[in-house]
Amino acid sequence: MTHQEWIAQCIELALENAADGQAPFAALVVQDDNLVATGVNDVKATQDVAGHAEIRALQAAARCMGTRRLAGCVLYTSCEPCPMCLGAIYWSGITHVYYGLSVTEQAAFDDLPALQYAELCRAAHKRRVQLVQATPDNVDPRRPFQAH
Ligand SMILES: [Zn+2]
Repeated sequence: MTHQEWIAQCIELALENAADGQAPFAALVVQDDNLVATGVNDVKATQDVAGHAEIRALQAAARCMGTRRLAGCVLYTSCEPCPMCLGAIYWSGITHVYYGLSVTEQAAFDDLPALQYAELCRAAHKRRVQLVQATPDNVDPRRPFQAH
């Protein structure tokens, strides 16, 4: 199938998900032009903020393939991934992602992904979420790594 045909399949799944009362997002993991797994956004149903379609597709593909390493697979998604999903894509080893709607285009409906990408371009101290290192004086946070 062409990239556009896989994306069309994502959009159909996203439409079905929306008809089921969920957010309108869907994703597919494909290997060698074969469908490995699908995922749809289930944030509303599960109250899990990580329940994005891309995350669910990566989880299903990992279960199906018996490995979290999905290098060589391709991710298709109805919308350009948000920063959280992009991070998960990096962890998976997937290097090729195709999407239907860009984050910029999606902003007409939901501007949070675009705002998150803009936020990441700001200096850390100017971001809305403050990351503060708070290392205890007598506890080395490297210990869990050294014990691993
Ligand atoms: Zn996401």
